[in-house]
Amino acid sequence: MISCREVFDFLVDYVSGELPPHVRAEFERHLAVCPPCVAYLNSYRDTIRLGRAACRDNDVPPPEIPEELVKAVMATMRGECSNSKSPPSGESQ
Ligand SMILES: [Zn+2]
Repeated sequence: MISCREVFDFLVDYVSGELPPHVRAEFERHLAVCPPCVAYLNSYRDTIRLGRAACRDNDVPPPEIPEELVKAVMATMRGECSNSKSPPSGESQ
């Protein structure tokens, strides 16, 4: 069975439906026996929803969400956020 670490690694692909079937089966087998990973998955999905709202409003997500989770979501949604302004902490000329 895969480890919690691998669940985190596969989470983005799992949520976006890009996980190969055999990996997805292992992933779900882990979720069946590991409530913390289920909670993590749920909070990840919530973060995606909030992230999309933040993307539209050009606002930051609520602070109770772990920064690493926000970064992961933002990395996932990079393409979807292309209509927003340039990043606030830009190192432009
Ligand atoms: Zn786990």
